Amino acid sequence: MDLRTLRLRPGEVRTETIDVELEPFVLGGQRYEATPATIPVTLEISQASGATVFDMRLLAHVSGACMRCLGFAELERPVRAREFHDFDAPASDELSSDYVVNDHLQLGAWARDAVSLELPDQILCREDCAGLCPVCGKDLNVEPHEHSEREPDPRWAALAKLRDEL
Ligand SMILES: [Zn+2]
Ligand SMILES: [Zn+2]
Repeated sequence: MDLRTLRLRPGEVRTETIDVELEPFVLGGQRYEATPATIPVTLEISQASGATVFDMRLLAHVSGACMRCLGFAELERPVRAREFHDFDAPASDELSSDYVVNDHLQLGAWARDAVSLELPDQILCREDCAGLCPVCGKDLNVEPHEHSEREPDPRWAALAKLRDEL
């Protein structure tokens, strides 16, 4: 869509639904996929005094490994974002959107950035995920347990076995 040919009148709104493919996100060393990868993005274009206004809406669904227990985690977030662009402003101007390149809106890059901003710092299978046991590595959701200090460390057990063999 060449934005210069839009020629919107003030107050006029043009609404488009465009399919956008979201590349996987990498957070905390883990990969999170948008599922499905291609989602419909609703774009509203209107004309304000001195700038074209872009309003984007989408529903992001992302899945990957829980950051605590490595089990399956997914989340769904409604995402909204707005950009202003004045076609006559220099690129350094604040009314020049970084997502408009050569009079074309880079909707894929914009949608991806907007979803990134909405993702939480921690992606968990559930809010109170107990995570993995720091001592033995078992999943504390499946097998809740604690280690008492008196329990022999497996390394000492191996040494004791060696001692018995000597
Ligand atoms: Zn978890
Ligand atoms: Zn344990």
